[in-house]
Amino acid sequence: MHSTASDGRLSPATVVQRAAEAGVELMSLTDHDTLDGVVEARKAAADAGIRCLPGIELSARWARGVVHIVGLGVDVDNRCLQDGVAAQQRARLARARQIVTRLERAGIEDLEGRLAAMVGGGVPGRAHVARCLVEAGHARDIQQAFDRFLQRGRPGYAPVSWASIDAVVDWIGQAGGIAVFAHPLRYRISRGALRAAISAFVEAGGTAIEVSNAGGGRDDLAAAAALARRFTLKASMGSDFHDPDFPWIQIGRLAPLPRDLTPVWEDLGGVQ
Ligand code: AMP
Ligand code: MN
Repeated sequence: MHSTASDGRLSPATVVQRAAEAGVELMSLTDHDTLDGVVEARKAAADAGIRCLPGIELSARWARGVVHIVGLGVDVDNRCLQDGVAAQQRARLARARQIVTRLERAGIEDLEGRLAAMVGGGVPGRAHVARCLVEAGHARDIQQAFDRFLQRGRPGYAPVSWASIDAVVDWIGQAGGIAVFAHPLRYRISRGALRAAISAFVEAGGTAIEVSNAGGGRDDLAAAAALARRFTLKASMGSDFHDPDFPWIQIGRLAPLPRDLTPVWEDLGGVQ
């Protein structure tokens, strides 16, 4: 789940409170390329009497694209992870500046100030830019903002040099966490390319994959489960919650994992 520490719409504490209200017993706040919300989330979880694993969702370079790797149960004080996260944030800031320059050149006015207000204290992402474009009337909704302005080939596209899959899996491992290949069916790549990305993830030491995901239907769940079996990975679940105004993604409403898979939470050991 995501909070205002990255591109979510609710504060870390509010996300946790909503999770507790929805009956969630174990969750993780996994903001994009930042650990900043974790302390607040864990305090809120302690208050609400639920478990909240320290987490993160790291962007990783794959071929010409990007995959997302979630780290669960990471030590937020680990130097190696912190250094890696700092580099990812520098890449995000540099890309945000490039996006602003490109879109202003394409005739979008006043984006810089609007974006700064939208991001607040969080780590900037394309979802913030998309919201600014909707707010200023340049797009009907977030999807259209991505399609018209932010996708590769559109005027606001700016490449970003994320760390490799190897590097991000290593940071997570150094910080004592479990690396999870996030939402495998959501990348716009062929099945062959997806399997190659998962192979690289496994070779780097990754041990789990997200199988139950709020956005995908039964076919996606079955396909992700097949990938878990093929690569002998533990299975995770994730709503990828960002925004209460997107009613189709709700907290704590995930399809159960197929029984033959090993849930990632069976192996948390000493993680609190
Ligand atoms: P970033 O990590 O800043 O590049 O932003 C990635 C996030 O933007 C993803 O996690 C999605 O939530 C969102 N996103 C990416 N592509 C699209 C799209 N085509 N339509 C809507 N949201 C998207
Ligand atoms: Mn993601």
